[in-house]
Amino acid sequence: MSDLTALNVVELQQALSSGETTSVEVTRAHLDRIAAEDGTLGAYLHVDGEAALRRAAEVDASGAAGTGLAGIPVALKDVFVTEGVPTTSGSRILEGWRPPYSATVAQRLADAGTVLLGKTNMDEFAMGSSTENSAYRPTRNPWDHDRIPGGSSGGSSAAVAGRLAPVALGTDTGGSIRQPAAVTGLVGHKPTYGSVSRYGLIAFSSSLDQAGPMARTVLDAALVHEVIGGHDPRDSTSIDAPVPTVVEAARRGAGGDLAGLRVGVVRELGGDGAREGYDAGVLERVAEAVALLEGAGAEVREVSCPSFGLALPAYYLIAPSEASSNLARFEGMRFGLRVGDDGSRDIDEVMALTREQGFGPEVKRRIILGTYALSAGYYDAYYGQAQKVRTLINRDFLAAFDDVDVLVSPTSPTVAWPIGARVDDPLAMYAADLCTLPASLAGVPAISVPCGLSEGLPVGLQVMAPALADDRCYRVAAAVEAALGAPLTDRLGERAA
Ligand code: GLN
Repeated sequence: MSDLTALNVVELQQALSSGETTSVEVTRAHLDRIAAEDGTLGAYLHVDGEAALRRAAEVDASGAAGTGLAGIPVALKDVFVTEGVPTTSGSRILEGWRPPYSATVAQRLADAGTVLLGKTNMDEFAMGSSTENSAYRPTRNPWDHDRIPGGSSGGSSAAVAGRLAPVALGTDTGGSIRQPAAVTGLVGHKPTYGSVSRYGLIAFSSSLDQAGPMARTVLDAALVHEVIGGHDPRDSTSIDAPVPTVVEAARRGAGGDLAGLRVGVVRELGGDGAREGYDAGVLERVAEAVALLEGAGAEVREVSCPSFGLALPAYYLIAPSEASSNLARFEGMRFGLRVGDDGSRDIDEVMALTREQGFGPEVKRRIILGTYALSAGYYDAYYGQAQKVRTLINRDFLAAFDDVDVLVSPTSPTVAWPIGARVDDPLAMYAADLCTLPASLAGVPAISVPCGLSEGLPVGLQVMAPALADDRCYRVAAAVEAALGAPLTDRLGERAA
């Protein structure tokens, strides 16, 4: 067969179930491409080709390949713990750690018969928007090797866009699935908070963290979502509700009929009077996508969500506060790195040295910021205020969803920027999250779907829906994808050819 890495999940399912190919062949094709390309891209932190081929052979022998996701290779962001497989969360402090158990989502994918290709690069502890905060190496954008692949799930986005994996999982705390998907031309979905298990996900900000799929098509993302979603008694915030019918919604949306669907365009995210910091080309592509929705029968109106402008300062208090608590567990005793334990120092010194050497600058910045925001004299002024803003943002969503079924905006205010351009300017880096943070703070589902190119680089449309209405995100995204004709990543193939 021609290049198996060019097939999406649905095409791979057909090729596997018809017997045209095997999981071993599909896995080998991806491993070959990783060997050829990953030296440049830096998408993976860990690949175990032998284990992957062994697993693929088992799936082939079982006769299951092509049924559901059986036999399909997948990549996991290195924030998911995987039994016996190195897991670092992009940090030196976890170097050498092999977890004794697997995250629920990793286990569900394994139980479905997928083949783990490897663990993907990420900003350390998922803090960042460019993957340059990885303690190991930066990842490059397959569309332009001098540009960032987004973050913090930038290894996953580069792997899937670059055809080093058919699909991957990312995590999204403030945008880390949607923004890297947007800037690499992928579909990326952040599910409703609580609808996908966080068990075995190395915690950054527990009230915001969610796992979700990154794929080249809407239907591929839905197929993965369906496998990883659903209640998990091991996650105390897991919602006991059925998985939204995302696969059906993706199929229905692809029919291109949105008659009667009410779409709200968020004024505060790139609309009148709120265009500063947005690329003109991004706003043009998003406006064209909105026109496509109208052409498909949707009723489009502008909606105002006045508190969305406060999402950024609120998020950058809440997320660091929770991180400062979560990261206290990395003390050099239980996991990974330990520095200076030569018998000459007491335990506090060993902990301090381990943290000093094990955490990178952005992680330290967040721990210090979070500790300050939670400290006795300042708690009400910072963390308390931020929680109030979170309530206001929630209310904006509830009011908007009285009038419309979904809200849309750009996913990222800009296209992928050059590597290095924002590393010395944390505020410029944080500004990448402007559009993704409101849905994170409210816990509502949001998808990014490609809507064209600007300056030859991908642009994403964000579609947000009420809690547990993830299916609406998939339906609208599939309609956009269908109207554009072909997955955007097909144009990356043309570009490279
Ligand atoms: N870029 C945001 C941050 O740095 C979001 C990261 C994420 O979603 N994990 O915190």
